[in-house]
Amino acid sequence: MNIILFGPPGAGKGTQAKYLVKKLNGYQISTGDILREEIKKDSDIGKKIISNMNEGKFVSDEIVNNLLKNHVFDPNKKEKLIFDGYPRSLDQAKNLDELLANSNQKINYIFFLNVDKQTIIKRIEKRKILEKRSDDDLDTILKRYDTYIETTKPVLDYYSQNSNFHEIDGTLEIDQITSKIEAFLKV
Ligand code: AMP
Repeated sequence: MNIILFGPPGAGKGTQAKYLVKKLNGYQISTGDILREEIKKDSDIGKKIISNMNEGKFVSDEIVNNLLKNHVFDPNKKEKLIFDGYPRSLDQAKNLDELLANSNQKINYIFFLNVDKQTIIKRIEKRKILEKRSDDDLDTILKRYDTYIETTKPVLDYYSQNSNFHEIDGTLEIDQITSKIEAFLKV
């Protein structure tokens, strides 16, 4: 089963992804984590993306799509992909469709965790204290939220007509969101 968790930064995608990984024996494909790993390794890609990441801007589709490919084609991860933070643009959504089709896979569920800006700001400020992420200062948070709204609207439009698209109130408590997801998955 392949699942997309979709929603603004701080919507709780990572938390739900980790839960689904355990429950379904899956793999969390967090492009944010994959990109942070490149920065940590100080790779050529890492050097290219560090300023964008710190400013809360998106990394180019080309770089993200390339990094993603290996995961989709990894035979161990086949039918066990839990996407967290990807796709974030129409180009990425179309790229994902193509990669999945080429590996005989599809998306079974798309969960849109919908959260308002004020809730996001409160949550990310809390996470900043807990995780000490360099892109978690307030200006960056606002920039990331605005970037999200601007660029992901077409992705929402692209997916929202699908019968496997489900919107969930992301302001609910973690357990309540999990229960709603479980009800759709029937697990
Ligand atoms: P996240 O951990 O998902 O909140 O992502 C942190 C940062 O990584 C974002 O603000 C972007 O700079 C970058 N990023 C993560 N995923 C993507 C993506 N799918 N496309 C472009 N940039 C991304």
